[in-house]
This record gives sequence, structure tokens and C-alpha cells, in this order.
Amino acid sequence: MTEFELIRKYFQGKPTPSWCTLGIGDDAALIQPPAGRELALCSDTLIEGRHFPVRTAPADIGWKALAVNLSDLAAMGAQPLGFLLNLSLPQADEAFVAGLADGLFELAAQHDVALIGGDTTRGPLSISITAFGHVAAGQALRRDGAKPGDVIVVAGELGAAALALQQGADAPPALRAYLDRPQPQLACGQALAGVAHAAVDVSDGFAADLGHVLKASGCGALIELEALPLAPALRALPPGEAQTLALHGGDDYALVATLAPAAWASLQGRHAGLCAVGQIQHEGGLVGRDGQGKLNPVPLTGYSHF
Ligand code: ADP
Ligand code: MG
Repeated sequence: MTEFELIRKYFQGKPTPSWCTLGIGDDAALIQPPAGRELALCSDTLIEGRHFPVRTAPADIGWKALAVNLSDLAAMGAQPLGFLLNLSLPQADEAFVAGLADGLFELAAQHDVALIGGDTTRGPLSISITAFGHVAAGQALRRDGAKPGDVIVVAGELGAAALALQQGADAPPALRAYLDRPQPQLACGQALAGVAHAAVDVSDGFAADLGHVLKASGCGALIELEALPLAPALRALPPGEAQTLALHGGDDYALVATLAPAAWASLQGRHAGLCAVGQIQHEGGLVGRDGQGKLNPVPLTGYSHF
């Protein structure tokens, strides 16, 4: 099967949305973003053996490649529109591409995002997606806007993906799903746009990613360790172990945002998915407070490629 046949069979032929004035098939796609909105663009690559274990189901790879990008758009408060798909395949393995397309389009349909172009080449297995969406001008959630006194909130659960990775082939399917099929927090991100002062998605680990906000904003933070939204699978672990996974495990794709206490008070009841976990401070790095009120510094470590 040639590259063009693969594209036609698995990636072309879906209806083109109205904002896309030219879809797959030409040298570039054309889009007409909604008036008064800023475009948010992000890109993420998945490499076999690094971002997903070798022998991960193709449909899970497709899902995750899109999910991690939608999570970045969620962290900007953007509403997703579409994406480009860059595929590098060792061979034209139709069963693999069919599975990949299944998982990819399953998630795309859930969030009404369209594939409008890409590239297909032979090479080591990698899947790279560039996604884009839109947000009201000036309302995107940046990393550099946190202010002392802000409430720190989390959307989603922490630690389960890292636990699944630890357990490898022994992880039960429900736990494994946290690693293979993360759910981007798009609704919460959009609810926080124009409301929160700062946000980031948790890809490398809660402490590491909150650390990016602290650094960009020139602040510190106090975290109530017992308030962290641990995934249910972590509750059976010794508390110290569960906390380490929640603080430093990667691949959660939860959202962390900071907002003024008054803004939190008015949002709190309306967004069940959000929970408060601490407060932004003037300085002092990241500090954790345990159930006994004891304070300890939390290292800003998480997953790092190099
Ligand atoms: P060019 O040679 O001009 O770069 P290509 O032959 O790479 O064009 O691609 C032809 C068309 O197919 C383009 O519109 C491109 O966006 C689309 N395309 C290529 N690979 C993919 C893919 N994996 N998913 C979606 N569209 C793709
Ligand atoms: Mg090309």
C-alpha cells in the first residue's frame, strides 16, 4: 500500500467543518478562525518506548497522541478545532494504521475536532500531532499570571498513570486506561478561561508542572498534601507512596490553575471536577503541609527527557 492509499483509506473522507475552507489533499489546509478569537497552537510527539510502552495497542497510541495535545489546549482555556497528523512508520502496516485511526477518531469525535492535514513518511515509529483551537482574545490561561493569595485548583486525578507504568503488564485494565487513554480536561479549561490567573496541564508531574507556573509567575506555593485528588487506585497504597506518585508521577493530563479566592468562591459550586489544593505565596518555592500541619519543601521534580 502506498502512502497516498494509506492517507485516503484511513485519514481522508471525513466531512470538513465549516471553519476549514480547504482540507486534506492540497499542499496546505486553509482555516478561517472565528472573529475576535486568538488561535492557540500546540504540538506533541509520541515516540515508541518513551511516551508509550512497546506493544501498546495501536488504538491507544492514536488516542493518546491526540489527548496530550488536547490537554495542552485545555491548559490554555482554548476550545479545540482541529489537528495535523505527522506519522513516521517503519512499514505500511495496515492493521497498525487502522487501529491508530480508530483510537484517534474516537477521541476526535468526543470533542468534535477535525483532522485537516499532515505528513506520512517511513522511519522509526513516531506520531506527532499539531492541534489548534481558539480562545477569546486576551483570555487564554498563561503560566505567568499567578498572584500571591490565589487558590490553586486541580481538575482531574493524580498519580494513576505513573502507578500503571510502574506495574507494567500487571496493571489491571482500569488502571492501565489512565496511562493509555487520558481524558483532556477541556470543559474545565474553558470554564477557567478569563477567570483563572494561570494554568498548566500536568504531563511531567504535579510538582514539576506547578513549578513552571511558579517560576514564570515569580511566586511560591503552599500545598495541602491531603487535599491532592488522588486517583482511587492510589488509596490502597501506603500514604507516602501514594503522595509521591501524585506529586511527581507523570502522564496525568490533569489541569492545575490558580485564581483569586473570590473567583474560586463563585466557580466552586458549578464545577464538580475542580478541587482546591493550596495557595500561591509570595516566595519560598513549593511547600507541602501534611495532615498534622507539618511543613516540608517539595522538590520540583518530575519526568524529564534529558
Ligand atoms: P506534500 O508532498 O505537498 O507535502 P503530501 O503528499 O505529504 O503533500 O500530503 C498530501 C496531502 O495529504 C496533504 O494535504 C497532507 O496534509 C495530507 N496528509 C499527509 N499525511 C497525512 C496524515 N497522516 N494525516 C492526514 N493528512 C495527511
Ligand atoms: Mg509531505
